Amino acid sequence: MLKILLGFFTLLIINQAQAEPLPVTEIATGVYVHQGVHEDLSEGYHGDICNIGFIVGSKGVAVIDSGGSLKIGKSLREAVRVVTPLPILYVINTHVHPDHIFGNAAFVEDKAEFVGHYKLAEAMDQRKETYLRINENWLGAEFTGSVFIKPSIAVQKNMTLDLGDRQLELTAYPTAHTNNDLTVLDNKTASLWTGDLLFVERTPSFDGDLKGWLEAVKTLKTSSAKRMVPGHGAVVSHSQTALNNEERYLALLLSDIRASIKKGESMEKTMGTAAASEKNNWVLFETINRRNVNLIYPMLEWE
Ligand SMILES: [Zn+2]
Repeated sequence: MLKILLGFFTLLIINQAQAEPLPVTEIATGVYVHQGVHEDLSEGYHGDICNIGFIVGSKGVAVIDSGGSLKIGKSLREAVRVVTPLPILYVINTHVHPDHIFGNAAFVEDKAEFVGHYKLAEAMDQRKETYLRINENWLGAEFTGSVFIKPSIAVQKNMTLDLGDRQLELTAYPTAHTNNDLTVLDNKTASLWTGDLLFVERTPSFDGDLKGWLEAVKTLKTSSAKRMVPGHGAVVSHSQTALNNEERYLALLLSDIRASIKKGESMEKTMGTAAASEKNNWVLFETINRRNVNLIYPMLEWE
C-alpha cells in the first residue's frame, strides 16, 4: 500500500513538474510570442487569452506577461526551456489584468526580477480579493497555486533592461487602458510589445481613461517599431492600420456616449447603440462593447 501511495505521489510530482511547453512563434530573431485564443475573460475561460512570450538575449531571458494562471505560466516557462538554457532574468507585466499576470508564480524559482509600471503594485492590492475570487470561480482547479507576485522593479517613466546583446526600453504610460500600462521595445529587432494599449481583432476592453487611451494611441503612432505585439490578436507589421482601427472605435465610443448623455438617453439604451457601426469589425463585440459603455458612461456624465 505504501509503495502504491509513494508511486502515486511521485507521479503527481512528475506531472506537476512537467508542464507542456506552450506553442510559441519566433516573430523576429530571439522574440517569441504565444498568441492566446479570443475568449471572453469570464466563466469557462482557461487562462490563455492574451499574447505572452519572451525575448532571449546573450545574458538571459525576459518574459513578457505570464498568462492567466500558474499552469499557463509553467507552460510558458517550459517553452523558454525548449529554446534556451539561459537564466530567466526578468518577468515584465504590461498591466494588472488577470489574464496577463497570474502565471508570475511560475518564475519565482528562477529568482527573476518582476518588473512593472510604478502603479502596478497598488493596482494589484486594490484588485487582489476580487481577482482571486472570480478567477477561482472561472478557472476552478486550473487556478491552483496562482498568486499575486508584485513587481520588484517599478518603472516610473522609462527604464532600460540589459539582456547582453540587446536592450529592452520600457515605457510607463499615463492612465489609458488601465492606470498601469507599460510597453516594451526590443532595440535589436525594433519589436514593440504594447500590452493592451493595442488590441487587434478583439474588441478593445476599457478599464482606465478613454481620453488617455486615445492619447496613448497617438503616441504609439509615432513609434518607429517595425512590428507590434498587441495584448490580444495577431502580431502586426502594419501597425498604423491596427492603431487606426482601434482609434476609430475608441473615438466613436467617446463621441456616441457623449451624444447620448447630452440627449438624456439612459445608459441601458446607450449600451445597445454606442459605436454600434463597429460591430462587424471586432470579435466579442456585443459583450465587451456593452461592458465598455457601462464603465465609460458614468465617467462622462460628470465631465
Ligand atoms: Zn488588459
